[in-house]
Amino acid sequence: MVQADPQMLAAAETVVSSLNLPRGSSEFGIYNPADGRLLATLPDLTPQEALDAVGQADEAGRRWACRTARERADALHAWYELITHSAEQIALLITLEMGKPLKESRAEVSYASDFVRWYAEEALRPAGSFRDAPDGAPTLMVRRAPIGLAVLITPWNFPLAMATRKIAPALAAGCPVVIKPSELTPLTTFMAVGLARQAGVPAELIQVISTTDAAGFSEALLTDSRVRKISFTGSTRVGKILLRLASEQVLRPSMELGGNAPLIVFDDADLDRAIEGTYAAKMRNGGQSCIAANRIYVQDGIAEAFVEGLTEKMRDVVMGDGLGPGVGLAPLISHQAVSSVGRLVEDAVQRGASLLTRGEVIDGGEGSYFPATVLDHVPAEAELASTEIFGPVAAIQRFTDEAEVVQRANATEFGLAGYVFTENLDRALNVADSLQTGLVGINQGVPSNAAAPFGGLKQSGLGREGGGEGLEEYQETRFYNVARRETERGN
Ligand code: NAD
Repeated sequence: MVQADPQMLAAAETVVSSLNLPRGSSEFGIYNPADGRLLATLPDLTPQEALDAVGQADEAGRRWACRTARERADALHAWYELITHSAEQIALLITLEMGKPLKESRAEVSYASDFVRWYAEEALRPAGSFRDAPDGAPTLMVRRAPIGLAVLITPWNFPLAMATRKIAPALAAGCPVVIKPSELTPLTTFMAVGLARQAGVPAELIQVISTTDAAGFSEALLTDSRVRKISFTGSTRVGKILLRLASEQVLRPSMELGGNAPLIVFDDADLDRAIEGTYAAKMRNGGQSCIAANRIYVQDGIAEAFVEGLTEKMRDVVMGDGLGPGVGLAPLISHQAVSSVGRLVEDAVQRGASLLTRGEVIDGGEGSYFPATVLDHVPAEAELASTEIFGPVAAIQRFTDEAEVVQRANATEFGLAGYVFTENLDRALNVADSLQTGLVGINQGVPSNAAAPFGGLKQSGLGREGGGEGLEEYQETRFYNVARRETERGN
């Protein structure tokens, strides 16, 4: 197994020591998933301390809402420039605390900063409109106002992108935020918010809460009348708890929840493109992505060649520390993740799936490693067909015809992403229309884009992030009815 490049590791540790982290009377540790070493400690804030932060953000938010759109846009542009300038340091930090290969961390920084740039631009687009009433008398003015204080809760798998995808539209709309990053990967959020402050965003406007008491945090904040909005990315299980809490103060929810993405390869697909795209959709972040291809359906005619090609690619991936040279598969987030993925693989094999490759199960010492695995002929009853795998396991099923595969693809309560590989445009669009998912990758495995509305159908979520839609999530729509008396018109 490949170890970290010592120079890269030293550079990454320098980034951690340069962070100006807060101190507290009670603290918790953040560990490197590649070797289990302690990286830093942060205050374990209580719900009351989080409520104090709400007060500060609320006050700063009143001033921020009065700033012009141009001023808000300028601050976001400056933040974007600083993120871009520090891209390599942020990428090193992401790999250190989250584990993913450095190349992928660099890609995450680029994707994440795109949201800041996009919303810097979007902040300036006219938000209101005028309408004529059908009877001609009044003029209706439609205005967009900031929704108010937003509570943001983010997961560990994309520690920077999940934060900027929420913070940037909130600031662009004129809202203050209190963000609670995952307790497993909070350092990236501290670094990003530090850069926002350097860029001129008022210090109190973005409050970062480090805590291991996620439940206490959400119970206190979501029932506080100063809060108006909750934006959450994480599991459907926690999303449902938060939706219940959000009903207390009738908060506007944005929920980016779990997925169970189907990926369909038709006989007429370009084989190389299908293998490349499937590999990307499966293996980005070691499979720990909400839009990861969870169920791979391959049509009979192309199946042998496709399975052979994908298996070869999966076998060739270099596993090791994300800071090691050439590493394509880094540790999973935790030992618990390794055992849960292992259990899903065992269950599928016991139910009749064939195990084509599983590399060596490596003893990574304190590191939480799981090798790239390919399963073919996965029965529909296998647990991994209905559960998010969240690991580097390609689970392949075969199919014969289009109508049958669409029906199987939609047989899930999730509806985040789907993928279609075919060279037939009609088929691509017809299948995309039939898939019950919020987004569809057509002949490609990485569909997300800052300019597009990302989000799920069914139990995968509510609301959208990215695009113009992502800004509206932080705005209230109001209208003024302006009475108009007829006067003599000279034409
Ligand atoms: P998780 O739901 O366990 O945790 C997400 C966040 O919620 C963390 O910050 C965690 O501390 C917090 N949390 C946990 N319990 C809470 C509670 N009772 N109240 C308030 N906050 C609570 O999910 P995870 O394991 O960190 O992330 C993986 C999940 O996130 C997967 O299901 C994945 O599909 C999903 N995800 C979805 C998207 C998307 O855009 N749809 C993106 C990334 C990840």
